[in-house]
Amino acid sequence: MKQLPLVYHKKILVLGLAKSGTAAAEILHELGAFVTVNDSKPFEQNENAQYLLSKGMTVICGSHPENLLDEGFSLIVKNPGIPYKNPVIAEAIKRGIPVWTEVELAYRISDAPMIGITGSNGKTTTTTLIFEMLEVGRKQPLIAGNIGTAASAVASKATEENTIVTELSSFQLMGTVELKPKVAVLMNLYEAHLDYHTDFKEYTDAKFNVTKKQDASDWFIYNGEQKNVTDYASKSKARKVPFYVSGKMKEGISADDLYVYWNGEKLFERSIIALRGKHNLENVLAATAAALIFDCSIENIKEVLSTFHGVKHRTQFVREWKNRKFYNDSKATNALATKSALEGFSEQVILIAGGVDRGHSFDELIPHLQNVKALIHYGETTKRLQEFGEKQSIPSVVSVNTLKEAIEEAVKISKEGDIVLLSPACASWDQYESFEIRGDEFIEQVLDLNE
Ligand code: ADP
Repeated sequence: MKQLPLVYHKKILVLGLAKSGTAAAEILHELGAFVTVNDSKPFEQNENAQYLLSKGMTVICGSHPENLLDEGFSLIVKNPGIPYKNPVIAEAIKRGIPVWTEVELAYRISDAPMIGITGSNGKTTTTTLIFEMLEVGRKQPLIAGNIGTAASAVASKATEENTIVTELSSFQLMGTVELKPKVAVLMNLYEAHLDYHTDFKEYTDAKFNVTKKQDASDWFIYNGEQKNVTDYASKSKARKVPFYVSGKMKEGISADDLYVYWNGEKLFERSIIALRGKHNLENVLAATAAALIFDCSIENIKEVLSTFHGVKHRTQFVREWKNRKFYNDSKATNALATKSALEGFSEQVILIAGGVDRGHSFDELIPHLQNVKALIHYGETTKRLQEFGEKQSIPSVVSVNTLKEAIEEAVKISKEGDIVLLSPACASWDQYESFEIRGDEFIEQVLDLNE
């Protein structure tokens, strides 16, 4: 771990104690900072706070006191979920106190190069693919962020021999200053993710932070077919690798119906790729480019691509049963994600959908319903999905009460060659604690189908 003179014997405030805040506090303490942590959860119920207190840090729990900043902090590390309009953060900015997110700390202490992956969709899939390719290529990758351990905890243990592969959300990227990944990946920018940002520009500017500090010794892999993205890419100083899924290109990494190309030269046949869907082809191209930059062999890359069937709950292939294939896309909590999943199938699809009703529209699915032979739906959205399915003339539209019943119904009406796809286009909380639990239930029931 690199030492950070900037924090040594300085008062630092860590705001918000989830996984990343706790890791950041511990590391800052280790680096010789005087750490105060502040979290809204009361001390008695706050295991992280109790742990950090036992390590000798100052702990303030249960509220965010207004006079918190009077301590005279020289730096704040905030949880990515805390908005900039939070009174403590707004005041800190007014006073000129730097505010980081934990990934900035991770970057500054890391002896290992970093691959940072961002975008509206596809981050986890691409991160996992890159990690697996580097693993098979014996490059000693370490996965960090959303899937796995907090980035700063990983960075504190990483050596020059490792490579940190980490997903970076727009919230995390808003709190970066010097972050300079060796390889930055920007998958796409969709307006659908606007809920938490003031406007599209704030959101896209945050994403641009992934390449902002890069120079000609770094690489920037990005979607060459999205204007929003290419506009930003033109400002990046890194070496550029655009990816294209709509045909062979002379530059970057591209694919037509038959092959994947690197700078216009054939790399491998597309038929070896196990993942389905155009969106996943984007993820595959971005990951392949990153692996090639890190000197992985084509053989290693092909080995991963031919065996990787998707990250759990993301259009994940579960099993083939009596010539029907079952896919779990429980992560699809909005219509955009379900649309991506449907795009990946040319077979007849039985779609299982439904869940929390946020009043959102399902219209994004319309262009991809030609091969949907049945829509089986449950949950809060049943009434609206029934109307939607009938209006779009889906041959069979069936309302049931639970996912369990939906699977039973799907099995009953399925024919050889069909796809049964759970891609709910809705959040899960009306019946489940999380999309993971919903997906696990689907997997379990599908694996239990008798021969
Ligand atoms: P993220 O980590 O950005 O949320 P994931 O890899 O977990 O992305 O994928 C979430 C969902 O988004 C998937 O189930 C799929 O439906 C959709 N998706 C994945 N990759 C892409 C992509 N490149 N473009 C558009 N949609 C995608």
